[in-house]
Amino acid sequence: MITLENVSKTYKVACREKGLWGAFKSLFNRKYKTIEALKNVTFTIKQGEIVGYIGPNGAGKSTTIKIMTGIISPTSGNCQIDGFNPFKDRQKYVREIGAVFGQRSNLAWDVPVIDSYELLRDIYKIPQSEYEKNLKTLSEKLDLNELLNLPLRQLSLGQRMRCEIAGALLHSPKILFLDEPTIGLDSISKLKVREFIKEMNRGTNLTVILTTHDMNDIDALTNRIILIGKGQKLYDGSFDAIKQQYSKSVLVKVQMAKPYENVQIKGYETISVEGNEVTLKNLPETTFSYVKLVQELEKNYEIVDISTKALELEEIIYSLYKEYEL
Ligand code: ADP
Ligand code: MG
Repeated sequence: MITLENVSKTYKVACREKGLWGAFKSLFNRKYKTIEALKNVTFTIKQGEIVGYIGPNGAGKSTTIKIMTGIISPTSGNCQIDGFNPFKDRQKYVREIGAVFGQRSNLAWDVPVIDSYELLRDIYKIPQSEYEKNLKTLSEKLDLNELLNLPLRQLSLGQRMRCEIAGALLHSPKILFLDEPTIGLDSISKLKVREFIKEMNRGTNLTVILTTHDMNDIDALTNRIILIGKGQKLYDGSFDAIKQQYSKSVLVKVQMAKPYENVQIKGYETISVEGNEVTLKNLPETTFSYVKLVQELEKNYEIVDISTKALELEEIIYSLYKEYEL
């Protein structure tokens, strides 16, 4: 249903020189540099899937979403979604999709939410009966009744996000794109949004692509992640597999009898040395063993205590980024 083939995107940006004289010179002699935001990205997504599109800041997530929603065109490569070329067929294609950008609002700031919805109804030419039916379902599921007559600017971030998501679904799209939908939300709103997305996906077979920094979003919603870094696709597959691989990682805190400057243990990576406390992590090929570690430590160091801790979700992703040198 969604196919990206060798999609690349380069941005051309004007280099500014420093200071007034630099700005003046730049007026006559513009220098440009190119940023390769995406490099040969290829993937397919089937109807009804939920996919988590993850990667550190600047990886190219928003650029990919903008290409898939037809806001920008790729510099090279091919993007086909549901038989459309999103950029070229934009007019027809927008009816197929809904998009929510956490950083930018689709709804008007100063007018009641319901007025923005009515505008969307007119733009998308949604039949009145379908509009009313969708509005009713969405406001029930997202708990919007109290909010619809208030201007957007009076709403909290979580309330606003719920209104944005409903607005993106009024025209019954097949695909929903969410770019950082839970960023800055309180935990109750996060749970509500997650629950709602899951329900829509089950109920209407809505295809959902979401970018997020919150691994709990992924954990709650899907098992398929696409990892992108520096514009390139690095991993496409099961999130559980990643978690399993890293759940073998153990953080070990060692209390030394005195401070050591350089701590090196075979089979372990030294994460930090702070005073008498040293934090180690077993290398991927090392299975953690308490006894073996103590033996290894006692060869060169005087130790007082050892405690261990399995990696948390965020730490797993951090390790993943580190492994891919992101
Ligand atoms: P992400 O959403 O993963 O944080 P983006 O897709 O926003 O990443 O950005 C990828 C890269 O492209 C970054 O280096 C960013 O600075 C650059 N970039 C994004 N949009 C533009 C633009 N309109 N003009 C120039 N550079 C851009
Ligand atoms: Mg982004």
